[in-house]
Amino acid sequence: MTLAVLPAEPELGPQKRCTVCGDWWPLDPEFWYVRRYAAGEPATARGRTYSRHTPVVHFYSRCRACWADRAHEQYVARSARAHVRAYMRACGETA
Ligand SMILES: [Zn+2]
Repeated sequence: MTLAVLPAEPELGPQKRCTVCGDWWPLDPEFWYVRRYAAGEPATARGRTYSRHTPVVHFYSRCRACWADRAHEQYVARSARAHVRAYMRACGETA
C-alpha cells in the first residue's frame, strides 16, 4: 500500500493513496473502510489455513468516495438488468 507522510501536510500524519482516484487521504476510518482481524482468527494464505499470530488492521485500497461510486454503478447495472427482465416478462418472452 502506498503510505506516506506528505511533506506538504505533515500535520495530517500518515496518508494513503487511493488506487482508483489517486488522491491522498489521512489514514483514518473517516476516509477508508477498515477490516480488523483478531489474533487467533483462522486465516488463509497460499492455499494453507493457519491461525493468525498478530492482529491485522486492513485499510481498503479504494477510498470511501470511490467505494460509494462503485456501489452506485453496481446498483444502476442491477436495476437496468431488472428492468430488461420485467420488460421481457411483460412481452411474454423468456430470457
Ligand atoms: Zn478514491
